[in-house]
Order: sequence, then structure tokens, then C-alpha cells
Amino acid sequence: MRASMEIRKCICMRDCYDRCYFYAYVEGNKLIKVEGSRKHPITRGFLCSKGYSLPKLVHHKDRLLRPLLKDNKSWKEISLKKSLEILADVLREAKPHRSFFLSYAGNMGLVESLSLKALFDMLGFYIVVPNLCSTSGNNVLIKIFGTYNGKDIEDIVNRKLIIVWGMNPSWTNVHGMFLINEAIKRGAKLYVIDPNVTATARKAHRHLRIKPGSDVFLALGMAKYIIEEELYDKQFVKDKFIGYEEFFRFLSRLPWSFIERVTGISFEGIAKTAYDYATLKPNWIHIGYGFQRRVGGGEAVKAIAYLPVLIGDPSAFYYDFSPEVDLEIALNVKNSPRISFSKFIELLDEGADLVFIMSMNPLYTAPDSKGLKRSLEKNAEYIVVYDCFMTETASIADLVIPSTMFIEVEDVALSYFHRYIGISEKALDPPKEVIDAFSLAKRLGEMLGVNYPWKSRRAFILDILRALNVNYDNIKSKWYVKITHVQEANTARYIPLKKTYQNIPLGNREKDEFYLLVLS
Ligand code: SF4
Repeated sequence: MRASMEIRKCICMRDCYDRCYFYAYVEGNKLIKVEGSRKHPITRGFLCSKGYSLPKLVHHKDRLLRPLLKDNKSWKEISLKKSLEILADVLREAKPHRSFFLSYAGNMGLVESLSLKALFDMLGFYIVVPNLCSTSGNNVLIKIFGTYNGKDIEDIVNRKLIIVWGMNPSWTNVHGMFLINEAIKRGAKLYVIDPNVTATARKAHRHLRIKPGSDVFLALGMAKYIIEEELYDKQFVKDKFIGYEEFFRFLSRLPWSFIERVTGISFEGIAKTAYDYATLKPNWIHIGYGFQRRVGGGEAVKAIAYLPVLIGDPSAFYYDFSPEVDLEIALNVKNSPRISFSKFIELLDEGADLVFIMSMNPLYTAPDSKGLKRSLEKNAEYIVVYDCFMTETASIADLVIPSTMFIEVEDVALSYFHRYIGISEKALDPPKEVIDAFSLAKRLGEMLGVNYPWKSRRAFILDILRALNVNYDNIKSKWYVKITHVQEANTARYIPLKKTYQNIPLGNREKDEFYLLVLS
């Protein structure tokens, strides 16, 4: 290593399960290379290809380096100062009940994702919560268990059977796959439930290629078999599963012929999988977001969640992780209305004074992105995009403000997969006319005369850590600490499936086809 090279301890803030810890090698404000931390219990010395490509991304020739103002359908470069003046003027004019703030997970650093949202909350804007990935599943798990946290993911290596359901961790959660491989080396079996032959399915000891959208009924079929064969933990169910009698009655009405036809899996296939699940213990269900992004996704998570309850190990699953502190409430920035993405689309039809978009590219990722584009162009008076690149969404904006990348700021990292919280160091100075979210919020607050409560980025970090009960000096010196006080699922309540899934048709072929339609 050259003497002029410096090493910074950083954390990948992409929207990804793994939240990798890595060393950034920097020379003269240039990121030379990145290297995964060997010590970190999850990162284990390697990154994915996106992680390794970070030097290319940060110094990419197409990166936005100056604000852009739409001028007669073409772009004009303006100074950062000028762009903030324009935005402040627009904000002064915008009526809060006709103005929207949209952000998602482009940069999951807690300061970057919360500081601007805090300002727009103070301004009374609608805050759009566009979470397609896990919200409905989280909501049902909270109803069943009072939490959506299963066991610590690091425990997966001790399991005898791992069922990966609707997920392809070989591609999307490479460090999760590493842990699964470790479990396999110790003798665990891997079963995959997925309509597609994924890279993970190819490694599995068994692959159930169910029909798309039939996850609810495969889970119910497994539960039915476990109950009929009396393989469930009777004492646990009696003591800790409130309303189990109703669940059992419901399953007794569910015909095997229907389950087989809907899922495309034979009785023998379901029975074998259910038998192994009930007898190879301890085990684990790794629930993905795949089936959750469609009609009935939350119901599928619900049906799957009853399986670990039946075998007396209710937290033996992973779906999502959170220390369960609502940071927006803790920071007192959850006062303006929160609306779903579909409600935003509805309200947009009535016209909008301002739509501010950051950390997402909805014209590429949202359902019906063409319709969204038409509606934004027709109904939004002014669109501001805060991003590092000229995305599809930025291209229809009136003003684009260039954002920093996560490696250019100090920030706090939480994972929705593992339980480590860390501080990511600032490795590079951002380009001169590029601004981080905290500075943007603070400067706009000053220009608008809003009493933005945080005087410095560090003050914001300290407030976040206080809410999470973590000491800054401790975490800074160690890079990361593990969150140990986590409420995990331990008792369960039966929440009936939604009506459309309740009225199981008995021998009526036409009705069966209707349910297939509901599911697809
Ligand atoms: S696996 Fe995820 S967290 Fe790790 S480097 Fe890749 S994108 Fe970043």
C-alpha cells in the first residue's frame, strides 16, 4: 500500500439485506478500491459485484456534478446556491396539502434518509411511504406476534432444515447464502419454494416449483398435514397459540384436491415437505419479499408464519429486522400526514404544487410507471429530484439537485437483515456543487425561517443513537455493535385469512377457478 493511501471504515448503504462493512482505500480524494471487512460477522471479507464497483460509480463520468434547471425543455447548469434559492422560492409558494415528499431506499444511511424528510415533515407536506417490499408482511406479523422479528439471522447456521421461501439469496443476499452454506456444511438440508429455477433452487436438496401466487395454499397445506398427522407441538399450541381452534377448523374444511390443484404440488410432495419440517428440528424459514409484491402477499406471509408456531418454535424464521424504535417518532418528525404510494397517485390527479423525489426512481420502478409519468407531467406544477444521476424520474423534473453518495458523509447504518449497527466514516469530500441531504435540509430551513432542530450533522447522529440506546464513542471506536435487546416472536394469535381465502369452495370447480384468479 502506498504511503499516501488512507483507509476509511465504511458501510454499504444500498437497499440490500447485507449492509456490508468495508475498507475504502483513498488517495487524493479518489476512491482506489474497496475491501470487505474480514472481522465483521456477516460481511466476512467479501462484497458483491455492486460493492466492488463502488470506485467506478463514485467517479463515474455521468455523475451529476452541478444542479440542473429545465429551461425550455433543455437543461441549464446552475450553481448550487442558485438552485437552493429557486427551491426555497418554490417551497414558499407550495401549499402543504398540495405538496408531496417521496423518498425510498436509494441511500439507507439514517441521516441521509431522515434529515430531509424531517424538514418536509416540519413544512407539513404529505410524506409518501412507498414501501412495496415488506410492509404488508410486516403488518400481519405484528398482528400475529406483536413483532416482525424472528430469531437472530446468525442462528441459521445451527439449523437442521432451512426452507427458503420466495427468495433467491444466491443473488440478492449473498451473505445470507454464505450462512446457509455454512449450515449445509454442518449437515442442514436446504429446501426452496419458488416457481422459478433460481440459483438458490439449483443448490437445494428439494425444490418445490409451486404455481405463482399459490404460497398461501402451500403453507396451509403444510399446516393441515402437520395437524392431521398430529406432528404439531400440542402443549405449545394449547398454551401459546391464541385462537388455534379456529385455525384448525378452517384447515379441516380445506380440501386436499384444491390445495394440489392450486399449488401444482401433489399431496405426497406437500406431505413429505411438511413431515420433514415438523421433524427436522431446529429448523428455519427464510421468507423472501418475492411473493409479497403481489395480490395476497401479506396473506401468504401470514399463512407461512403459522408453521413455526405449530412446531413450537415461533421465532424460527427471518422476514425483516428492526430494533422496533420508530426513529421518526423518537426524533419528533412524524407529524405531517403519511400516505401510501397509491394514495399519492390518487391525490396527484387533483393537482400538486410541488413533488420532491429522492432516493428512488419511480418512473423506472413503480407499477404503471408510464401512467405515473403522464400524471406527474400533467398534474405537478413543479418537480424537484435530488439524485446522483440523471435517472428516468430526474429527466422529467424542473430542477435536479445533485446528491452525495454514502461514502461522502458520516452516517449511521442499520440493517434489515442482521443486528449490527455501525458508523460509516466519510471517505471522500463530495464534489463542490454537490450537497448531502442533511446540509440541504439545514440550509433550506434557514432560508425559509424554519427552526430546524439540528445545528450539525453530528447532532443529528447523536439523536439517532440516543433513540437507539447506543453510545457514539463506543460505536465509533468499534465501528459496529450488536443490538441485543430485540423482541422476538414468542406467542401467537390466529388472525383469520381475508374473506377471499376464507370461503373455501367445496367441490365447485368454477369457484375454484375464481380463487385462482384472486391469487394470480
Ligand atoms: S451485498 Fe449488498 S450491502 Fe454488500 S456490498 Fe453488495 S450491495 Fe452492498
